[in-house]
Amino acid sequence: MIDRADTLIDLHCHSTASDGTDAPAQLVRNGALAGLTAMAITDHDTTGGWAEAAATVATLGTPFALIRGTEFSCLYRRAGEAAISLHVLGYLYDPQSPGLRSERARLRQSRLGRGEAIVAKLVEAGFPISWDRVRALADGGSVGRPHIGRALHEAGVVGSVDEAFSQLLSDDSPFYVQKDDSEVKAIIALIRQAGGVPVIAHPWARRRGPIIDERALVELLQAGLAGIEVDHPDHAAQDRLQLRDIAERHGALITGSSDYHGTNKSVLLGAEATDPHSLQRIVDLATGVPPLYSAPARHSGALGDGLPGE
Ligand code: AMP
Ligand code: ZN
Ligand code: FE
Ligand code: FE
Repeated sequence: MIDRADTLIDLHCHSTASDGTDAPAQLVRNGALAGLTAMAITDHDTTGGWAEAAATVATLGTPFALIRGTEFSCLYRRAGEAAISLHVLGYLYDPQSPGLRSERARLRQSRLGRGEAIVAKLVEAGFPISWDRVRALADGGSVGRPHIGRALHEAGVVGSVDEAFSQLLSDDSPFYVQKDDSEVKAIIALIRQAGGVPVIAHPWARRRGPIIDERALVELLQAGLAGIEVDHPDHAAQDRLQLRDIAERHGALITGSSDYHGTNKSVLLGAEATDPHSLQRIVDLATGVPPLYSAPARHSGALGDGLPGE
């Protein structure tokens, strides 16, 4: 049996390839320093951080497994109702798979037009920021609202990125502009086709806007969704109990993750964690790319008896 105390697994972390503030190499090193034994890099709509993170794992002196992944921006639509924004994590999929690859490119392109439109509205209202500065802050990564939040913070408009969200960037703000997100069932199917494992991120993060109900969650599980991120900083205790129950009743795997974004958010690496048996299920289901192990992990099998070496 795997002793839970021997593992600390965080399967949802962002780097500068999207809206985190740690470069991919730093993210992996910080993960190891925080005592993580496994970490997923899951930037928004990109695999941009994968290569640098992978190269860094090879240099670590502690047992560590890297799970390559992406957080996809999606919409759930039901006839006669407003579309609901949600995020799906795709783990260990083949980055060359053409359907998903073109969808990632389309999503990143949509982030550019939408980011520019939000900034134009803010500039129009007199806030001293610019699209050039926001793009410079994103530095080639997937552009997101946290970059606009940083520009607002830098300009002295708000005291923090969090304050930028609560005052100017939330979904119900007059400055908000939607991006052209993917249809969630299409993304689930594309992740599966690419040999990956789809897990819904923070489905009941209520403070971010409308959430999907249990019926929709079950519909997505029937459409190929493999798991539910139950333990997430934005989930209330009662919601976690109910999500866990839904997952158990439908045979879905359960994850827990910090959704770390460096200094763009206050949550720390490993603040929420995944059981090693859930990670094992993800690894067993995936046929896209393998986990990447540091040398001590390969030699000692220290991640637990369930986690194979390469
Ligand atoms: P976007 O992808 O551009 O729609 O921006 C959403 C991203 O902003 C998500 O990754 C969230 O994690 C992040 N976010 C949401 N609320 C906040 C907040 N209050 N402070 C910082 N980041 C946030
Ligand atoms: Zn983010
Ligand atoms: Fe998310
Ligand atoms: Fe995230």
